[in-house]
Amino acid sequence: MANRKRAFITGISGQDGSYLSELLLDKGYEVAGFVRRNAALDFGNANEIKDEIKIYYGDLHSAESIALALLDFKPDEIYNLASLSSPFASFRDKLGTIMVTGIGALHVFERAKLIVPEAKIYQASTSEMFGAPKQIPQNEETPFNPANPYAAAKEFAHRMAVMARNDKKQSQFISCGILFNHESPRRGLNFVTRKITAAVACIKNNRKEGVPLNEIGEPIVKNGKVKLGDLEAKRDWGYAPDYVEIMWKMLQADSPDDFVVATGEVHTVREFAEEAFAVAGLNWEEYVEVDTHFIPPVQTGPLVGDSSKAKKILGWEPKTRFKDLVKIMIHSDLAKFS
Ligand code: NAP
Repeated sequence: MANRKRAFITGISGQDGSYLSELLLDKGYEVAGFVRRNAALDFGNANEIKDEIKIYYGDLHSAESIALALLDFKPDEIYNLASLSSPFASFRDKLGTIMVTGIGALHVFERAKLIVPEAKIYQASTSEMFGAPKQIPQNEETPFNPANPYAAAKEFAHRMAVMARNDKKQSQFISCGILFNHESPRRGLNFVTRKITAAVACIKNNRKEGVPLNEIGEPIVKNGKVKLGDLEAKRDWGYAPDYVEIMWKMLQADSPDDFVVATGEVHTVREFAEEAFAVAGLNWEEYVEVDTHFIPPVQTGPLVGDSSKAKKILGWEPKTRFKDLVKIMIHSDLAKFS
């Protein structure tokens, strides 16, 4: 097909990268992405579509690998989704987080400016940048006050993106999506929602072998229980396929901007667990144990977003609500951990 638009995605093997690739392939794009070279040649969530996309081996640590990929592929659109994306884990690897999630994003902006200055860029910003906000719900005007190294790195990348956009000499089209938590069956097992749905499935199916490991290397279900941290943490959970759609919409707009992307619905971790166990016909209280190992040293939240600007300017609204999201994840994990 002549004149297909070209999209380059960092973090293509992640949750969002894989859904976004599928969306763009459906729209007729040529899609390429960065995969970190590893011994197992694992394309993660992009495994199913690996034959339809172009793979570049690279790492956000390496500005050269970014430059070589951009020189060769010459994308019209760049989606910078790569990051060390766990806020909890970022306390244990502060420098790595800053180098990949913060400085790595700057490498992408700077190399793009030199090599494909007309390319439109999407930067994956995050609601975590709000930290423990005084304003509820949060919108594009809410001050940032990051409470973990991941959020601090993302705030740095966000501010560099806004600076590049406002540069009077050579402005770049960089839009930032301030996305609130979004989940799916492809969410990493180190995130609380997926940990819960995988644990429910292992318990319901009485699975003894191949139980996945948690953030500290223990089986997520041990002695019939799953260990969680702060049950009262409040988050706004959406469905990842709904959220990648707005990434694309941001780059179709005439001018770059920042957009809060959220459902506007807030739930606690306890409510998520309650709902997830209930979908499988179980009572959460019999299976959940609180373990302070999983409580971060500095608390974030309550996080709940007001995405009325995204609705007004881009015509975007979330389609999938909390209960349906939990159902989708539980049904998928019941089949996966059968
Ligand atoms: P994810 O599943 O954790 O995916 C992260 C991706 O980044 C993976 O493909 C990973 O590759 C890649 N990566 C990590 N370190 C890298 C490096 N040094 N060089 C190149 N690639 C590297 O994250 P996600 O949930 O899809 O989120 C996508 C983006 O949105 C992330 O930037 C995340 O921080 C941000 N975000 C996510 C949410 C959410 O709720 N999901 C909310 C707001 C913002 P490997 O497979 O090799 O590890």
